[in-house]
Parts: sequence; C-alpha cells; structure tokens
Amino acid sequence: MEKLPSCARCSLNTEEKICRSPGGKGPDFCPTRFMREALEKAREKLSDRVIYEFARQASIQEGEGYINREVKPHVRHPVKPRLEEICDFAARMGCRRLGLAYCGGLQYEASLLQKVLEAHNFDLVSVVCKVGGTSKEEIGLTEEQKVRIGEFEPMCHPLAQAEILNQAGTDLNIIMGLCVGHDSLFIKQARAMTTVFAVKDRVLGHNPVAALYTLNSYYQRYIKKPFANNK
Ligand code: SF4
Repeated sequence: MEKLPSCARCSLNTEEKICRSPGGKGPDFCPTRFMREALEKAREKLSDRVIYEFARQASIQEGEGYINREVKPHVRHPVKPRLEEICDFAARMGCRRLGLAYCGGLQYEASLLQKVLEAHNFDLVSVVCKVGGTSKEEIGLTEEQKVRIGEFEPMCHPLAQAEILNQAGTDLNIIMGLCVGHDSLFIKQARAMTTVFAVKDRVLGHNPVAALYTLNSYYQRYIKKPFANNK
C-alpha cells in the first residue's frame, strides 16, 4: 500500500467530507477516494444474508438511539445507554442465549449485568477469565512475570472462555473488562458475533478515553515524552 488511509488526520468539516456527503471532498490519504477496490470487496460481503441482517439491524438500532430525528435543524439527542442498546440489539436480532466473557476483577459488575439480562428474558452463559485455573507457567511465564510474585497464579484464558461459549451455543457474546490482548484472542476464537460492554482500564475506572480527554493536561506525557522514560 503506497498511501496509508488516515481518517484520524482528516480535518475537513463533517458536512464537506466525501464519506458524509455525496460530492464531498477528501484529502490525499482519503480511503473513500483511493480505496475503491477495498470498498467494493466490503460491499460484496453484504451478499451474505447473516452479515446483511446484522449490518441492517445495527444501523436501524443506531438511528433508534436518538429521539426527535424528524426535527430540523437536527440536534442530536441520544437516549439509550450502552446497557440498553445491547439488550435492544440482542432482542432485535432474535438472540436468546447470550454469552458473557468477563474479567474476574469485575465479578460484581458481572452479577449486575446478569440481573439486567435476565430481567430482559435472556438466557445468560457467563465465563470468568480465570476459568480452568490453569497456571501461567503453562504459557511460559516466570515468577517475576506474575502479578503476585511467588504465588500460584492462574492465567487469563480467553481461549477457554471462547470454547465454553462456543459449546454452549451462544447467539451473541458480550465482553466485559477483558485485558488488552486477551480480548483479541477471545474475539478471534469465539464462533458467535461479539460485542463489547466495557473495556478494561485498571487506572481509569474502565474509561480509557479519559487519558485522551486529558492528553493536553494530566496525560501530556503520552505525547511529550517517549513512553520508555515514563516508567
Ligand atoms: S473517508 Fe476521507 S473524507 Fe472521510 S474522514 Fe476519511 S479521509 Fe476524511
């Protein structure tokens, strides 16, 4: 690839972007302009009926997350927290059995999510990250690489979480708080589609975007110094 697509660097106003308005503009690195083949390939994937329906329902759901859509000029007024959105989406997709792959550090939150999903008549299969109690030594970790040095420490086992949910025949999986990398393995191995309720951020109360919101103040070390110097 000669040019790297770089939407994150695009500084055009929303209304003038080619991805927002037919006839709009795009900079040199604009994938809408120069990656026609990839866009066509993506379009072909919609010929799969399951994918088509998933995409269609997800976009209907996106619209229904707002009220007063008919009022012009449009002022965004979102009304559904993600918790409600996941319940709505699972219902609209006809999913009955949901899988929850969660981090043991969010055991209490998992019990609350279970309550909510059961109140919405879903059948929940939940599996904690430490399932199986497999030692970290099995994946080659040394004592010094453990969280609690000198103690038995079970590994997070997203492969086992995925396998158990696969065998339980879940219709849709939900991730809550899996570590970076463990979440990737789970998503790769899970058979059913996966959505995310929450991501793990041990320092920022599971709100990693807070580091970006404060990038020009308390987290400026992430752009002003090499990470290595921050240790
Ligand atoms: S698709 Fe093109 S116009 Fe849209 S954000 Fe990306 S670079 Fe900008």
